[in-house]
Amino acid sequence: MANNEDQFKKVISHAKEYGYIFGSSEIYDGLSAVYDYAQNGVELKKNIREYWWKSMVYMHQNIVGLDAAILMHPTTWKASGHVDAFSDPLIDNKDSKKRYRADVLIEDHAEKLENKAQKEITKAKKRFADAFNETEFVSTNARVIGYREKKAQILSSMARLLEAEDLSGVKALIEELGIVCPVSGSKNWTDVKQFNLMFGTKLGASAETATDLYLRPETAQGIFVNFLNVQKTGRMRIPFGIAQTGKAFRNEIVARQFIFRMREFEQMEMQFFVRPGQEMKWYDYWKQTRLKWHHSLGLGPDNYRFHDHEKLAHYANAATDIEFKFPFGFKELEGIHSRTDFDLKAHETHSGKKLQFFDPELKESYTPYVVETSIGLDRMFLAVFSNSLQEETLEDGSTRTVLRLPAILAPIKIAVFPLIKRDGLPELAKQITEDLQWDYNVFYDEKDAVGKRYRRQDANGTPFCITVDHQTLEDKTVTIRHRDTMEQQRIAISEISGVVAKSLSMKHWLQ
Ligand code: ATP
Repeated sequence: MANNEDQFKKVISHAKEYGYIFGSSEIYDGLSAVYDYAQNGVELKKNIREYWWKSMVYMHQNIVGLDAAILMHPTTWKASGHVDAFSDPLIDNKDSKKRYRADVLIEDHAEKLENKAQKEITKAKKRFADAFNETEFVSTNARVIGYREKKAQILSSMARLLEAEDLSGVKALIEELGIVCPVSGSKNWTDVKQFNLMFGTKLGASAETATDLYLRPETAQGIFVNFLNVQKTGRMRIPFGIAQTGKAFRNEIVARQFIFRMREFEQMEMQFFVRPGQEMKWYDYWKQTRLKWHHSLGLGPDNYRFHDHEKLAHYANAATDIEFKFPFGFKELEGIHSRTDFDLKAHETHSGKKLQFFDPELKESYTPYVVETSIGLDRMFLAVFSNSLQEETLEDGSTRTVLRLPAILAPIKIAVFPLIKRDGLPELAKQITEDLQWDYNVFYDEKDAVGKRYRRQDANGTPFCITVDHQTLEDKTVTIRHRDTMEQQRIAISEISGVVAKSLSMKHWLQ
């Protein structure tokens, strides 16, 4: 495809055209950064969730599931630190009325200095050709050094100001740097305010007695508050994990890039409880295990990389992101965090209840440490979908759009076609459909020429097409066509299930 921006536009329009994703309440012009999953999208999303769930819960004897409520006691969010610290600094431009994250404005400004340094390097590269030594150039060229020093200085000033919660200092820095609004071009800024990302809501009928609640901004806390319930009733022994998938809500200041950053999204999280002191061993284990899970889907190992955090959140002693190469570059897809005993200890303090485990081997009680794996289901959807959408030039010079979804995740597994709409072929094709739909999501189609039907299923991501023709009436064989290779085979009706089952089994993919 032409370039990354075009590719991304194509992804968004394909997702709509083929019934994967619609904007929320579109007839009212939509709601910003909120999306609906359509007939195919809901299936792909469900299949991704199931692939995660089975690999986490069914494939680990010491991991069990949970489905905690979205609404939780408000003290939960005090204990977790979200009431006090889950916020971003925002600033408005008075002329354009556009809202920005103050830290992002400053970071973007600093990035411009890096771009200037890069330009100097490119220029020198051209001028000196083969004699160019980049390492030497960047360490001696006054301009490059100047740009980079200035950039580092800006970022460290910003970090210092944010650390000290000096918001007027942040505004002063924006003014000092002469940062203008990208829309209005003016420097007419409001003060910087901290903006908490949690959505508030109310529980109760009358205004006087209603309790203020939050929609959960992460699913993890539902796991922490149930730690002891699950441990006791499931007779779990450390190390063990609790997995959960579900909606989370964040009132993101700037939400863009389609389903990459949404205000209502779904997370798939697993909290793994371990002995204090053993968390680094398990952190490494989960880093590797999660990367292997991603690789198992065959989207290409070069599309993933780790980004280890240098600056750690208040609760963590190690953290990494698994980044994926989205059409707009490498970005966080999943976080793996060693959260220490921060959460359980905080809930102990706020609830007055002990959340400890008696370790029969050590013969002592302790508050377990936690290693968490946290992935956004919608981001995973975007990773899979954007990577799978391809345009191919065929041998005859024509092009075909093909959505090469991993077969195990594809919404429709099999499409069944009668070659033509008479001679009893539709009846036989419907019979085959009805037989297969006990086990698979099957789509029956008799409209248009068969070539057109194949192309529609290619673009829809369907891995197998079955065509019933006159020979089928005679010898009970059909044609099975494979989406990726377009190869066609003649097989018996009784063999369809077996052929398909192999490439749709969890074992085949995860192993
Ligand atoms: P980011 O830095 O992109 O805001 P984060 O570090 O705040 O993400 P976490 O709190 O670690 O994210 O959440 C875990 C996962 O949840 C992320 O890796 C991402 O896949 C997903 N996620 C977080 N925020 C959003 C969002 N607004 N929309 C969609 N997915 C999200």
